[in-house]
Amino acid sequence: MRISDLLKGDSVTISFEVFPPKKADGLEAVREATEKIAALSPSYMSVTYGAGGSSSKLTLEIAKNIQERFDVPVIPHFTCVSSTKERAEEEIRLVQEAGIENLMALRGDIPLDGATEHDFPHAVDLIRFIRERSDICIGAACYPEGHVESAHKADDIRYLKEKVDAGADFLVTQMFFDNNIFYNFLYRARDIGITCPIVPGIMPITRAKQLGRSVALSGTNVPERFRAIVDHFGENPDAMKKVGIIYATDQIIDLLANGIRHIHVYSMNKPDVAAAIMENLADIIK
Ligand code: FAD
Repeated sequence: MRISDLLKGDSVTISFEVFPPKKADGLEAVREATEKIAALSPSYMSVTYGAGGSSSKLTLEIAKNIQERFDVPVIPHFTCVSSTKERAEEEIRLVQEAGIENLMALRGDIPLDGATEHDFPHAVDLIRFIRERSDICIGAACYPEGHVESAHKADDIRYLKEKVDAGADFLVTQMFFDNNIFYNFLYRARDIGITCPIVPGIMPITRAKQLGRSVALSGTNVPERFRAIVDHFGENPDAMKKVGIIYATDQIIDLLANGIRHIHVYSMNKPDVAAAIMENLADIIK
């Protein structure tokens, strides 16, 4: 099923993101976790792509398993970083052979040493390449607070429009912890003429450590209210998990109340977190 078709409907969609193991020997544990998440019957699931290493091959394997065994539509991710044109051609073929109708086209993070083999400087180049060769539903990334490398939000959103014009069918946002930032971004995106679905990405923070390096590097604003919650409960793992799930649920409820129908949850291979969110929303999204 094409995710863009799912997003056209009036029904609320809740989707989950999972990631492949860094090494092939972690596959069993990840397979088990992703199957538990798939068993919750989310609207669709995305599987991230770790550029380079064995995990890049596992993305498709995990996605295929979810779709075949649980009948949950999937969108594997694919990055420009460490991809040649030949590799991208191969990925399109493998995705289609697996009966998957969606592909998330990303640039990926440039390795710190800058060493990477890739034929596509930006996600837009990969999107164009895929669109010229297939009618796969293409998803792309967007950044309500601006991408970290981008000096000006105006440039970032102009490049975003180019991705949509090149063939992206829908966009998924980077995590944010203040919904007003998302509403403001949505307004700016519509204003520049981006009309495709923009799905907010919600990250439940269930361990204080998560707020550390990766959130700081992504440039995501941590509102005082949330910072105080993490400061207060962060030392107590059970309490932190609970309040992190409640905070994410609260964000989702606010989004739904403001007319946003499609929510993507960064479930980070945690079936218990995904299940708790589904349970919290059960009577709300019926
Ligand atoms: P781009 O759209 O190429 O943008 C990157 C930067 O270049 C931005 O600053 C942008 O403003 C600028 N830019 C864009 N186009 C142009 C242009 N034509 N000329 C000049 N500048 C331009 N990473 C992974 O490695 N694997 C994953 O599976 C993965 N999944 C993700 C899913 C989501 C929903 C999100 C939000 C991010 C994900 N990432 C993933 C991280 C992502 O790869 C990084 O944030 C990366 O730095 C940017 O990727 P992009 O596709 O947004 O790049």
